[in-house]
Amino acid sequence: MTDERDAKHALPRALQQAGGMREGVPRRVAEEIGVPEAHAHGVGTFFHMLARPEARLRVCTGLSCRMAGGDRVLKAAQEAGMPVEGVSCLAGCDVAPAVLRERRVLPDVRAQDVEEAKGDWQALMSRGGLSEESWCGHVWPERPDAEGLALDLHGAIDLDGTALRRAEEIGPERVIAAIEESGLQGRGGAGFPAHIKWKGVRSQAETRRYVVLNADEGEPGTFKDRELLVRRPDRVIEGLVIAARAVGAEAIWLYLRGEFEVPWRVLEETLEAFRGAGLLDGLEFHLHAGQGAYICGEETALLEALEGKRGMPRHKPPFPTEVGLWGKPTLIHNVETIACVPGIVMRGGAWFRGLGREEPGSKLYCVSGHVARPGTYELPLGVTLDELVEKAGGYVGELFAFSPGGASSGFLPASERGRPLDFKSLSEAGTMLGSAGVVVLNDSYPLREAVLDQLRFFEAESCGQCAPCRIGTYFLRDALERRLSAEANQTDALRNVSEASWQMNEGSICGLGQAAPLPLTSALKHFPEEFGGPEAAS
Ligand code: SF4
Repeated sequence: MTDERDAKHALPRALQQAGGMREGVPRRVAEEIGVPEAHAHGVGTFFHMLARPEARLRVCTGLSCRMAGGDRVLKAAQEAGMPVEGVSCLAGCDVAPAVLRERRVLPDVRAQDVEEAKGDWQALMSRGGLSEESWCGHVWPERPDAEGLALDLHGAIDLDGTALRRAEEIGPERVIAAIEESGLQGRGGAGFPAHIKWKGVRSQAETRRYVVLNADEGEPGTFKDRELLVRRPDRVIEGLVIAARAVGAEAIWLYLRGEFEVPWRVLEETLEAFRGAGLLDGLEFHLHAGQGAYICGEETALLEALEGKRGMPRHKPPFPTEVGLWGKPTLIHNVETIACVPGIVMRGGAWFRGLGREEPGSKLYCVSGHVARPGTYELPLGVTLDELVEKAGGYVGELFAFSPGGASSGFLPASERGRPLDFKSLSEAGTMLGSAGVVVLNDSYPLREAVLDQLRFFEAESCGQCAPCRIGTYFLRDALERRLSAEANQTDALRNVSEASWQMNEGSICGLGQAAPLPLTSALKHFPEEFGGPEAAS
C-alpha cells in the first residue's frame, strides 16, 4: 500500500484510540497520521461510535429489543443520569434487550439491572448469569452433525486444515466447479450465485486481488454471523483461505462490526493456531473493526470504510469483482457464505445442494420475538415458519405477523406461515429472505409500532448520499407518526406513500433506500385495518 492509503486506512482506528470526536481530536489525529483534517472530520462524524464518544452505554432500539422492553431500559438509564443513547441494532435479538457498554455487548439487560447499578454505567451487568466475556446464544441442532449440516455450529473446531488440504489436492478449477455445482447463493441478503463472483475475480487481468469478509452484521433480527464466528471460526478461516487461493488473492481483509469484541478475539486466536501449523503461508490476514454504521454491511460501503473513508455505497457497475478494494478485483462474501465453503470442498457440491429443498443448502435462520426459544437454527433452506418455530419451542401467544428476513423484508400475515422461507418463494410474495432474520409477533405488540420501529431504523441508518432515500426515509416515518398521532389525527397522512416508495425504489443507489418502504407498504397491503382501512393509503 502507498503511504496515503495506509494513513487513510488507519484513520478510524486512530480516531477511536484518541477518544473519538472530542474537541481537538480530528486535527491532532490528522496531523499525526498525515491526512487532511477535513477528511478526519468527515470520517469521524459518519460513524456512530466515533461521532458520539460521550455515550458509554447504547441500548438497542431494534424491533426485538423493543418488544422485550428495550425502551424501559433506555428510559431507566436516562433517568439514572447515565451517559446513554439508543442504537439501531446490536445483533443481540435472541438475548434482548441488548446493551452495548463501551465495546462489549451485554445480553438480556432489564430496567431493574439499571436501577441496581445506581447510576454507575460501568457497574451495569447482564441478567441471567451469562458470562460477559464469552456468552453465546441458543443454537439448534444441539448435537454435531457434519454429514447433515453445512455449518454444524456444535461441531468440534478443526485446526488441522482438512478442507484446506483437500482444496490444495484438487486445485482451484475443481474448487470453483464444486462451488458452482453446489448452487451456493450469497447468504448476506442478495442471494447472488457465489461461483459467478469467484470466476469473475479469477478471470481479471489484474493480478493484485483481494478477498474480503463482510462480518458487519447489523440487520435488526439477525445475529447468525456472531454465532458462526465464535463457534466455527475454523470454517470461516478455511473458507477464506480456499477462496483466496482459488481466485488468486494474496491478501484477506476481515471487516468485523466494532461491537464484535468476542468474535474478534476468537478469530485472532484461531488465526494464530492456523498460522502456527503453517496453513496460512503466502497469505496476508488483516482484521478491521467497524465503528458503527449499518450501511457498511452493503458491500461497496464496506470497501469504502475499509479504505478509511465515509462508508457510503458506490454506484454499480463496476462491481467489486472488477473494481473493488483500492480499485483491485475483490471477492467479498458474508460470513455464512464463506463458512459453507469447507463443507462443499470436503463433501462435494451435490452434497450441499441436497441439504436444501427447492433451493440448495442448509441455512442459518435467526428467530426472535414471540417464540419460546429465540436463537440460531440450521435447517434445510426452504423450511416454513411453522417448522422453524416448532424447533424454537413454539409460538408465544397467537401468531399475528412476522418479518421473514430482517427489517428490509417488511411484514407478512399469519396466513403465510406455510410459505417456504427461501429466496424464490419469498420474492414471489413481494418480500425477501434477506439475512433470514425472522421476527415473530403476536398481538401483544402493536404492528403499527413495529412498522414505526423499522422506519425509524432506516431513517437513522440512511447514509444520506441520495435524495430519494434521505428524504424518503424521513417522509415515511413522519407520515406514519402523523397518521398514528391522536393529536395530529391526519387521516390522509399516508396518501403519498406509494408515490414516495416508487421514487425511493427507482432513485436510490443501494438496497437500503429501495427496501426502506417495505415495512410500511407490506403492512398497508396485508393489514390495512391497522391504519384505518384501505382508503388510508389512497
Ligand atoms: S440508498 Fe440510502 S443508504 Fe443507499 S446510498 Fe442512497 S442514501 Fe445511502
